[in-house]
Amino acid sequence: MFECLSLLTTEPDTAMRNTLSLLLLTLSTTAFAAGGHSHGKAELDIALDGNTLTLALEAPLESLVGFERAPKNANEQERVKKAAEKLRAADKLFVISADAACKLQSVKLASAVIDPALLGEAPAANAAGAKAAGAKEEGHADLDGEFVFRCDKPAAVKSVTVNLFDAFSLLQRVDARAASAKGQHAAKLNGKSRTLSW
Ligand SMILES: [Zn+2]
Repeated sequence: MFECLSLLTTEPDTAMRNTLSLLLLTLSTTAFAAGGHSHGKAELDIALDGNTLTLALEAPLESLVGFERAPKNANEQERVKKAAEKLRAADKLFVISADAACKLQSVKLASAVIDPALLGEAPAANAAGAKAAGAKEEGHADLDGEFVFRCDKPAAVKSVTVNLFDAFSLLQRVDARAASAKGQHAAKLNGKSRTLSW
């Protein structure tokens, strides 16, 4: 993978560039995880550790509520609250292999530009969370979510289906990555193809 990427630093001709584009499409999204914020696209990291399945979502705030700043009026505050409510019902947004018997344990939401109370967070926990969420670039802001499930049969966790697309119409793509004892798996999910399996 590193060899492929290093080729990009040279000036490839058009044919080469096309080949590289194809190659890059097939590469794991991991290589571009640091690329960050583009509207309509979120990142989801799934990690299984013992009985604990943790899903970490990083989404442009725009894709969840339609703006990327503190809400300016009651209407916008309501939009934030609704989005938080949907995210807190995480067992509907993320459907894990039924055999694994996973139960949602906790949800943490944070955004650098949103009052934690609007996200349903306690003020103390929020101060730290909001700081960690930090605005990425001027004029842009993310909403970060951490969703923790406890699974009775973790060995049976073989897929996660992402239903964020139903809940948030501005969200078009989720780059999902999963890390388990079996290795790393990645997929670009969208409304039509929304399951990462391994
Ligand atoms: Zn943005």
